[in-house]
Amino acid sequence: MLPLTFSQYFQEVIWMKKPEKLWQAVVQCDQTYDGSFYYAVKTTGIFCCPSCKSKTPKKENVTFFFRIKDAIRSNYRPCKRCRPDLHQRTYHPHEEVIREVKGLLESEYDQAWTLQKLSESVGISPGYLQRLLQNAQ
Ligand SMILES: [Zn+2]
Repeated sequence: MLPLTFSQYFQEVIWMKKPEKLWQAVVQCDQTYDGSFYYAVKTTGIFCCPSCKSKTPKKENVTFFFRIKDAIRSNYRPCKRCRPDLHQRTYHPHEEVIREVKGLLESEYDQAWTLQKLSESVGISPGYLQRLLQNAQ
């Protein structure tokens, strides 16, 4: 599993506008993206990690989530096979900061984010944030 680098996180901002990229990760069961996002299937009411080996759902039934709590709030249950809920619990505390950053990028993708601006938003130094993001996953 390759860790995502900071520049890849910025690429994620581009993903937000290109769900096709997320869909490809689901089709290919790409575990590089585990923890980056989850996909939920309308017809089953279940959400999975991208790498889940369960049958690929129909594209029109899939919704993407970037946080587990958002999926749960939308009444989806974690998959019993890939257990996205357990996956989250193994994260170290810095994961929260990383999630916060991703959440910002997700909800305000039209902003011109810089490392400086991001670190101010989550309340840690730019150098530390960069290290966190480089070591993420
Ligand atoms: Zn699954």
